[in-house]
Amino acid sequence: MSDALENLLSETRRFAPPAELAAHANVTSDAQPEDRLAFWETQARRLSWAKDWDQTLDWSNPPFAKWFVGGELNVAYNCLDRHVEAGLGDRVAIHWEGEPGDTRTITYSDLLSEVKQAANALTDLGVGQGDRVAIYLPMIPEAAVAMLATARIGATHSVVFGGFSVDALSGRIQDADAKLVITADGGYRRGAPSALKPTVDEAVALCPGIEHVLVVRRTGQEVAWTDKDLWWHETVAKASTEHTAQAFDAENPLFILYTSGTTAKPKGILHTTGGYLTQASYTHHAVFDLKPETDVYWCTADIGWVTGHSYIVYGPLSNGATQVMYEGTPDTPHRGRFWEIVQKYKVTILYTAPTAIRTFMKWGDDIPAGFDLSSLRILGSVGEPINPEAWMWYREHIGANNCPIVDTWWQTETGAMMLSPLPGVTHTKPGSAMSPLPGIAADVVDDQGNSVPNGGGGYLVLREPWPSMLRTIWGDDARYLETYWSRFGDMYFAGDGAKKDEDGNIWLLGRVDDVMLVSGHNISTTEVESALVSHPDVAEAAVVGATDPTTGQAIVAFVILRGGVESDVDVLRNHVSKTLGPICKPRQIMIVPELPKTRSGKIMRRLLRDVAENRTLGDVTTLQDSSIMSLISSGMQSSK
Ligand code: ATP
Ligand code: MG
Repeated sequence: MSDALENLLSETRRFAPPAELAAHANVTSDAQPEDRLAFWETQARRLSWAKDWDQTLDWSNPPFAKWFVGGELNVAYNCLDRHVEAGLGDRVAIHWEGEPGDTRTITYSDLLSEVKQAANALTDLGVGQGDRVAIYLPMIPEAAVAMLATARIGATHSVVFGGFSVDALSGRIQDADAKLVITADGGYRRGAPSALKPTVDEAVALCPGIEHVLVVRRTGQEVAWTDKDLWWHETVAKASTEHTAQAFDAENPLFILYTSGTTAKPKGILHTTGGYLTQASYTHHAVFDLKPETDVYWCTADIGWVTGHSYIVYGPLSNGATQVMYEGTPDTPHRGRFWEIVQKYKVTILYTAPTAIRTFMKWGDDIPAGFDLSSLRILGSVGEPINPEAWMWYREHIGANNCPIVDTWWQTETGAMMLSPLPGVTHTKPGSAMSPLPGIAADVVDDQGNSVPNGGGGYLVLREPWPSMLRTIWGDDARYLETYWSRFGDMYFAGDGAKKDEDGNIWLLGRVDDVMLVSGHNISTTEVESALVSHPDVAEAAVVGATDPTTGQAIVAFVILRGGVESDVDVLRNHVSKTLGPICKPRQIMIVPELPKTRSGKIMRRLLRDVAENRTLGDVTTLQDSSIMSLISSGMQSSK
């Protein structure tokens, strides 16, 4: 990218926080602290430390950070024991809802006992500090138990999303050099048991370093058995419920997690203990305004993604939250399942992804309208830029026009939220992540690394280290330096394009790799997609730049229509031209039934670019459903 991104879409709608919420908000100012390190020290005091730190930040060997140097703590103790010791053992930690409708109610005391048993079982199996444990589970409570038990004994977990293939699983086990796998016979997906164990069996055959496989019985389906296999209910459930948590160094590795693979081969992101838990806990408290005594929080992410790590396990549990955990898909057994769950548990805070919101838009307004959603008070979004029209739909049809929307920008690498509105403070704008959170030094810069003026576009960077930052790419310091620090030297390069509006608020514009260069103009995929989604016929859109003999690149759009409508592509092309200017008019629009997405629901534009330029497809291992690509390619051919 040679020049700054153009700043095309204008948005004038603004929404103040509800007065009542603002009056009682956990955080009442979005001002940056004068002393950033002192601010993070205060936040670290949210946690219980066995030994105080000597130094807040050691940045003597950048970009390799150490936070809370010399401090010691136990993550599981902070998420469980201390709440029980404070007399909160009977509080519900997890309202678990299985896809077939079976449920479990797990209090903090229950969860602590199970984690202690699992910690004892892991120790008996020879797992200790410094070892890696691979976790390949459906969305069942044992997933959280397995993570917390691993953390409790100072070992490092690597959670692999339960939908991944043998190759993806064995590659991640080998890269992390794990010695134990925790899995299940299967889980429920779309109304049927979906097996996990056969994938593990094949993967483990390729991974001689694996000594044991611990298997949770969830579906009861038939499984093959090897001499490495042990049933969870025989090993863990029989272990002692006595276990004293030992404190570990603040920089003890907590987990390795591979990025979604939207743009490239996944990277094994390494997170450590004290700084990570500090920022996960603080942001969950601040951005969701969590009142642990009264709120019922629900994050719909899978535990296999960083959102599940920071905002199902570590953030909420460290804050003593009561939360919902759901095993299955939003359309099983019907398309109102999410809203039925909100109604049943009186969910007050909902955290989901734009891909889900656009799907609900496509399914129709009447579905959420059939449920009582009046318990909701805050709505969150994460994973991709949220188009202003999807934001408005979320506000109106889910939030009854009175719930602040927090659009949270962050990455696997950042460990926790970095940019977001604060629900009791920010006057939100549909589609904007607004401002860096207190303690975070984010900026938008041009090619030379100079801060762009308001109204300008460029690259999102982080100017200062933050507590939950990745420490490296596991086993590959060189790739860590090259990927994030080679572009600007002393600033972290996030890989995302962004702009500042006239008020200095930040808008994410999509991946820098996806930016389109049309007749010398750098155009954001997000802005063109948002223009398409602002047309009432369109539910979802993905655009790419395809090589063009006259303009260098031309915009090719793939569009999903809202339920029941038919649309004329020329009307949609003109709509974009009218909204953003003629330079953004797509050369071609394809109406498609689905878009290629990663397992975490992000649009994979590089595959659409392959289609638009008639190339064979690149790496598809992280693709959700590979049959979609042949559907789209065949449609493309016939439209030419
Ligand atoms: P890979 O790095 O392997 O391509 P990935 O970037 O999709 O995968 P994640 O770490 O899960 O893996 O996603 C982080 C990215 O998601 C961000 O860099 C950004 O592109 C996008 N993102 C997340 N939240 C938001 C948001 N609120 N607004 C805009 N973009 C977001
Ligand atoms: Mg990324």
